[in-house]
Amino acid sequence: MSDKQDFDLIIIGAGSGGVRLARMSAAKGARVAVVESRYLGGTCVNVGCVPKKLFVYGSHAGEDIEDAAGYGWNVPGDQVTFDWTRLVANKNAEIERLNGIYGRMLENAGVTVIEGTASLADANTVVVGDQTFTSKHITIATGSWPVVPEVPGKECVLTSNEMFYLPQLPKQAVVWGGGYIAVEFAGILAGLGVETTLLYRGELFLRGFDDDVRDFTASEMRKKGINLRFGVNIESIETDNAHYAVDLTDGSRLNTGLVMAATGRRALVDGLGLEELGVQLSASGHVVVDDHFQTAVPSITALGDVIGTPQLTPVALAQGMVLSRRLFGDGKGEMDYSSIPTAVFCQPNIGTVGLTEAEAREAGHKLRIYRSEFKPMKHTLSGRDERSLMKLVVDDESDRVLGAHMVGPDAGEITQGIAVAIKAGATKAQFDSTIGIHPTSAEEFVTMRDPVA
Ligand code: NDP
Repeated sequence: MSDKQDFDLIIIGAGSGGVRLARMSAAKGARVAVVESRYLGGTCVNVGCVPKKLFVYGSHAGEDIEDAAGYGWNVPGDQVTFDWTRLVANKNAEIERLNGIYGRMLENAGVTVIEGTASLADANTVVVGDQTFTSKHITIATGSWPVVPEVPGKECVLTSNEMFYLPQLPKQAVVWGGGYIAVEFAGILAGLGVETTLLYRGELFLRGFDDDVRDFTASEMRKKGINLRFGVNIESIETDNAHYAVDLTDGSRLNTGLVMAATGRRALVDGLGLEELGVQLSASGHVVVDDHFQTAVPSITALGDVIGTPQLTPVALAQGMVLSRRLFGDGKGEMDYSSIPTAVFCQPNIGTVGLTEAEAREAGHKLRIYRSEFKPMKHTLSGRDERSLMKLVVDDESDRVLGAHMVGPDAGEITQGIAVAIKAGATKAQFDSTIGIHPTSAEEFVTMRDPVA
């Protein structure tokens, strides 16, 4: 490795992918620096996966307390209160703890952390404030940022970034969008007692998920009192900073206490100076890379949300490992984007891996579909009207399980295990010959015998 430059690798962005790449590369003997302008750990740790899951736990605790009554606990409803500021403060303390861990991890790995906003002066030079650093390799790992559609009044719309630090909960809220973040936040707000309306422009939210999962989730969310309005979009918003009047495309008006947009995220490349150096951006604004994270400029690579692959922490982590091997290791290892399992932490949760029924049919498979809907055991005594769904998409000819989908408590936990089987190419016969764990919901995945289609 060259000694002429300050570093072997400068990574811009200390999120999931950037930190993993930094640590793995430093462990291989590379001189590594990470430049970060905001917070260590990126979106996932600070305004994404981690605080979101803590808020989901917080909001679900209300149901757990109610459910305890059926199990003999006396829970006088009028004595149960909720303190939003305490939840936010406790969440903030946990995030600070994690920031510290990330800092120490990088320090212990021998990675130099440079605080500030980076731009590229040339293909091997990074400028941060009045400092200039040279490096053999530069990796763009700057992640993504929420997008708010262009409507009059968009400046008063909050995004997930601000929701994590909301000073107080409103009585009513509108969540705008029908993807991961919208359904998760609608569940969080409703669980905390906020009268919640979710607005989605299409016919049914969660586009890209299995249709049964989408229908079932909509029905379960409605049972929890969330007002789901599909086929409608926001036209404009007016506010006096306490109340919001939201005009919709169907001509109706909604009055609410907050509007949150969860309408997608764009690649964060502002001010880096990439295009000036010859790094290409796609029409959607993502950094264009080849299968090896290589941009059009030989010394510059990119990974994570900024390159437009699935915006998921585990994907960025895996990319960090592969790129580190490529830059400083044996060069082996490829990313495999097939059958990426994912969970949506709406309530109840969604867990999914592999092909949806529609995708499998489109790909020409003749299918057997297994589907089971049931009341989870916990709710026999709790009396809660909540059901679970499990579905297997099986290729009739090869018997291979192409997809597994679930809506229900702990769907993410269950799906992670099923994902290993699907990745290994398991057949339905192998699922059937697997002994169930009783009594669990998960055993349903190995006991569905009669195809419904
Ligand atoms: P998504 O891409 O999941 O969803 C965006 C939603 O906004 C879609 O319903 C989309 O509608 C809608 N939308 C987009 N543009 C407009 C517009 N102009 N007007 C009205 N609606 C619009 O994005 P999110 O912001 O929810 O999340 C970003 C990414 O973060 C996710 O894709 C996911 O990869 C990741 N994430 C993962 C989580 C997890 O793993 N649990 C949790 C949270 C986020 P349409 O479908 O019609 O295009």
